[in-house]
Amino acid sequence: MVTSARVAVVGGSLGGLTAALLLRDLGLDVTVYERSAIELEQFGAGIGFLPDSSRYLVERCGLELDSVSTKTSAIRYLRRDGSVDFEREHTYYFSSWNDVYRHLLDAFGRERYLLGHEAIGRTENPDSVTVAFSNGTEQEVDLLVCADGITSRFRSELVPTMKREYAGYVAWRGMVPESAIDQEVAAHLGDALTYGIFANSHILVYPIPALDGSVEVGKRLLNIVWYRNYAPGPDVEDLMTDIHGERREVSLHPGSVRDVHVEEMRATAKARLAPSLAHVVCAVEQPFIQAVFDITIDRMAFGRTCIIGDAGFAARPHAAAGTAKAAANGWALAEALETADEIPEALAAWEPGQVELGRQLVERTQRLGRRSQVEQSWDPRDDETLFRLRPEGP
Ligand SMILES: Cc1cc2nc3c(=O)[nH]c(=O)nc-3n(C[C@H](O)[C@H](O)[C@H](O)COP(=O)(O)OP(=O)(O)OC[C@H]3O[C@@H](n4cnc5c(N)ncnc54)[C@H](O)[C@@H]3O)c2cc1C
Repeated sequence: MVTSARVAVVGGSLGGLTAALLLRDLGLDVTVYERSAIELEQFGAGIGFLPDSSRYLVERCGLELDSVSTKTSAIRYLRRDGSVDFEREHTYYFSSWNDVYRHLLDAFGRERYLLGHEAIGRTENPDSVTVAFSNGTEQEVDLLVCADGITSRFRSELVPTMKREYAGYVAWRGMVPESAIDQEVAAHLGDALTYGIFANSHILVYPIPALDGSVEVGKRLLNIVWYRNYAPGPDVEDLMTDIHGERREVSLHPGSVRDVHVEEMRATAKARLAPSLAHVVCAVEQPFIQAVFDITIDRMAFGRTCIIGDAGFAARPHAAAGTAKAAANGWALAEALETADEIPEALAAWEPGQVELGRQLVERTQRLGRRSQVEQSWDPRDDETLFRLRPEGP
């Protein structure tokens, strides 16, 4: 077992924080370095809360799952006229990015969570790694965990063969308070994961905790994720150019999507979606956008450095498993460090299972994306469409 080590976790989001907590629980000396100058927030957007995502909060923080998430009992598909096309009983838990982050950060504490630390490079020494930061500081550590997300600089440096490919569509996202919409619609959409599917597009609506963490029915938010195709080239370039004329690579924040696109999106919602779904979409005051990418790598361990979460594999969101995968990478890393005596040995043992986990998730979500956005072959009865990290099981 690796019993003492200086660990730098670069990236203080959900993946980085979970790994940092787990490694600190082993007794290691862990510091998180986060680029952002202020604590993070993702506008309160929802996440499917799979068992791997909630595991640390439930097992190690003693939180009740019901206190940090909403629960739905059905998966429902609506036709354009609002009638139910298909429904099955199925329990899902949902949370919000902010809520999960807040709980993980509270558990880790702020003392060794260093904001304003953008890592800009790494040097391998015979028995350590030195990480350099843009503020001119350096840290020598025994283990570097790169959890720096979809635009990871370390991935580009360590895996030059990496492929990042735009999937051909984006997710329009937004939230609306249940209390701000028609109460019949709120009740109808509040107990299920609701889908609307039409040519080359699909939308999901589900309830998530309010910004203050409340999970009481009536006080929650309804979260929308609407996948819409924008061809590579001028179409997506135009969409991803914000109100200041700047081309954004991955996401457009609330308030920065140009009016012309918001108006077009609302008009399409009214024309193509079930009335209840269109009502919710049009009630979102400041919709925002995340472009969808596939990222596949063939290595995640490099001596004393490893890559986890979206910095490694980034999968399309159709399995709602990105956070779960990042967390699973951290749990497996802690187990590997418990089993091996040396860090490079632990990372070498950890890597194959994590590469396989990422590869199968990327492939499965690519298939799901093709079925809904290209082939029109999405089948609600097919268990492959269920949210889960692994092909079978949770
Ligand atoms: C539309 C959409 C819907 C989704 N829905 C779900 C869902 O329902 N369920 C789910 O589990 N997942 C979902 N995901 C995926 C999920 O958001 C990601 O998988 C997850 O956030 C990955 O976490 P991470 O910690 O690996 O990376 P990130 O959350 O991207 O965090 C990376 C962190 O690293 C920091 N950073 C970057 N570069 C540096 C640097 N050089 N130095 C220091 N810090 C740095 C960043 O500031 C950031 O805080 C969704 C994604 C999308 C696009």
